[in-house]
Amino acid sequence: MADVWVFTQEMNGEPSSLSLELLTKARSLGDVTAIYVGTGSDASFATVGEYGAARVIQIDPGSELVSGTVAATLAAAVGDQAPDLILFGQGYDDRDVAGRLAAKLGKSVLSNAVDVELDGEAVTKHEIFGGSQVVTAKLTGSAPFIVLVRPKSFPAEPAGGGTPDVTKLDLADAGRSSATVAESHVEQKEGPQLEEATVIVSGGRGLGSAEKYAMIEDVARPLKAATGATRAIVDAGWVPYAKQVGQTGKTVKPDVYIAAGVSGAMQHLVGMKDSKTIIAINKDPDAPIFDVADLGIVGDVNNVLPKLAEELNKRS
Ligand SMILES: Cc1cc2nc3c(=O)[nH]c(=O)nc-3n(C[C@H](O)[C@H](O)[C@H](O)COP(=O)(O)OP(=O)(O)OC[C@H]3O[C@@H](n4cnc5c(N)ncnc54)[C@H](O)[C@@H]3O)c2cc1C
Repeated sequence: MADVWVFTQEMNGEPSSLSLELLTKARSLGDVTAIYVGTGSDASFATVGEYGAARVIQIDPGSELVSGTVAATLAAAVGDQAPDLILFGQGYDDRDVAGRLAAKLGKSVLSNAVDVELDGEAVTKHEIFGGSQVVTAKLTGSAPFIVLVRPKSFPAEPAGGGTPDVTKLDLADAGRSSATVAESHVEQKEGPQLEEATVIVSGGRGLGSAEKYAMIEDVARPLKAATGATRAIVDAGWVPYAKQVGQTGKTVKPDVYIAAGVSGAMQHLVGMKDSKTIIAINKDPDAPIFDVADLGIVGDVNNVLPKLAEELNKRS
């Protein structure tokens, strides 16, 4: 069996949802080791076990900035144990660590993958041109192969595995990369979060003004949905960046995605086109969003959204 390592980052005391997606995929590729970055706990280690890790290598950077210290520590472990594949998510720290690790090991990295297979070499799939084309790439040469995978490429599914063995590594010297975290803030989150929501209601420039975004919230509330946005209205300052869906925002895969006053630019579609059911509301019958919509309403958001909210409130 291949030895597959998964960069597993701790968020608020638990393995991140992206890590759980990667652990789920890794199970189909070989024996799974979670590279657990964080303070860890019996509960968090049990969770990574449940998602497929038989073994945990823990690295706790403490107040050290993750990238330099973790890359140096991981490079030493890779040298000793020679895994076949190391999977990272396409996240901020993941990218930083993967790049530094690759440089230390003299390896290449394939990033932005949406699928990965292992057969003596790493074969990956990448969506290009906003997801309209898929290219296959290969990492050849000697292991370990280093691959970064986009969020939501795989579902996170527990497999009921037992508690893994945990080995904690001493931190290696990060050398010139050494830096410490001076301050950190926990993002204030209210209501359902975009990445986890089963229903999302998103608004675009067709809403007309920042105040009209309330129409999106009125529809979202009875559905217990998360609210999203296009970059156009984020750039206009109508809503915060945390709500942006798309190429330079979040990738989402809810059961239902309602897009109101959204044109359907390729950079938006790439972040939501894999939603199970897409409902579009747009006054232009030729808007590209209708090309990916399962249900289209040609109409003015000012008429459609309040009526939709009224009807949903009656039923909820
Ligand atoms: C490098 C790069 C990265 C990008 N990343 C992202 C990204 O991550 N996410 C993203 O969303 N965009 C991204 N963009 C921007 C993207 O190209 C589009 O400009 C943006 O998605 C358009 O937003 P919109 O649909 O809200 O606005 P518009 O394109 O202006 O569309 C507004 C739509 O509303 C409709 N409309 C107008 N009035 C009404 C009404 N009263 N009732 C109903 N419908 C109405 C119009 O018919 C139109 O279709 C990126 C662009 C670049 C170059």
